[in-house]
Amino acid sequence: MLYIVATPIGNLKDITLRALEVLKGVDLIACEDTRHSQILLRNYDIATPTTSYFQHNRFTKGEYIIDQLKKGKNVALVSDAGMPGILDPGYHLINLAIKNNIEITVIPGPAAFVNALVLSGKPAHRFIFEGFLPNRKIARRNRLKEIAAYRQTVIFYESCHRILATLEDIQDIFGEKEITCARELTKKFEEIKRCSAREIVSHFKIHKPRGEFVVII
Ligand code: SAM
Repeated sequence: MLYIVATPIGNLKDITLRALEVLKGVDLIACEDTRHSQILLRNYDIATPTTSYFQHNRFTKGEYIIDQLKKGKNVALVSDAGMPGILDPGYHLINLAIKNNIEITVIPGPAAFVNALVLSGKPAHRFIFEGFLPNRKIARRNRLKEIAAYRQTVIFYESCHRILATLEDIQDIFGEKEITCARELTKKFEEIKRCSAREIVSHFKIHKPRGEFVVII
């Protein structure tokens, strides 16, 4: 069985009893970054062997993991944070497992965009998850212009390096529209701003934006 195991997006206590049981019981844990996942595993005294499975070794390591599963081993897949398969190489392994008729299940848990959507107070019955916007300014602005035509709630992820530039683009394209910017969810400095992009830009010009962000329009 391949277990897709959701892990915390910040607070190490956000892990289910079932996730801990599975991580303890499997033969191998495939981690996006083994050193990062060791913080969680050590915290819960889990000594299961780990192997790295990330963007650049996904083809070769993917074959190895499928081979182990075919030999009857149980494998868990974890990402650096949240639900594997949501914007990480997990997607590739999941597809490989499906193609190879390997039994697969999900152990549910956090995903940053769900927390942010609920906290935003914006309509959650119809929404679009956009992942990361393009890095390059022109492409990003073009994408935002397309998004401006949507009638649903739109969610995307952003890093601390690009959040200011992205919010400035949102300000230009969406004017005074109220948006939500969720920072460091479940962590000590969790912060939710529900106001115009202009106000958030002013805030982050004074308080350097640190950590991880979800933006909702
Ligand atoms: N698999 C993850 C999930 O289930 O949400 C997402 C992985 S994606 C590579 C990483 C991005 O998720 C970050 O750049 C950030 O935008 C968002 N993210 C992850 N943890 C977060 C948190 N605690 N607070 C805000 N955003 C977070």
